Amino acid sequence: ADVLARIDELVRLVPDYPQPGVLFRDITPLLADGPAFAGVVEAMAAAAPEGVDLVAGMEARGFLLAAPVSVALGAGLLPVRKAGKLPGPTAVEHYELEYGHASVEIHPFTVPEGARVLVIDDVLATGGTAAATVALLERCGAEVVGLSFLVELEGLDGRARLGGLPVDVLVRVP
Ligand code: IMP
Repeated sequence: ADVLARIDELVRLVPDYPQPGVLFRDITPLLADGPAFAGVVEAMAAAAPEGVDLVAGMEARGFLLAAPVSVALGAGLLPVRKAGKLPGPTAVEHYELEYGHASVEIHPFTVPEGARVLVIDDVLATGGTAAATVALLERCGAEVVGLSFLVELEGLDGRARLGGLPVDVLVRVP
């Protein structure tokens, strides 16, 4: 069976989580299905641009996809962490959420000048997290060559915030 056709049924819809009015996409059933998880990793690796040096994954669910994709590509792994998790020195990018602020951090000394980086997360929603990650990586001297997501929430038009960079998604939902 086509694993990609099953993604939809393996992503659980959770109404009103983490806040009332939000329809949360829970990927744990997909991670728990061996063939589906392998198919997702294979599809993300197959869609990756040529010559990726580093795969950046956003904490925490992005880690789960970025790590196996980096191994599949023979590339390094770059954890993009939330505030205050990395020992210094760090490079930080602050960004606005609907209610409040957040930030993403990396160890800039793990990013060689001109490194070709693929950015991976589970869900593209407003694009705020991904846009902040791109800005952070570019400020650190990397070249972001593409982004890859399992699910794109199209209605939020997060893609518009990604500066026209190549974006690959496995499932689009309204
Ligand atoms: P954005 O910054 O609004 O695009 O939100 C993306 C971040 O929030 C990503 O790190 C996602 O993992 C997380 N996120 C937003 N909506 C969902 C969801 O429905 N399911 C899982 N993660 C989500």
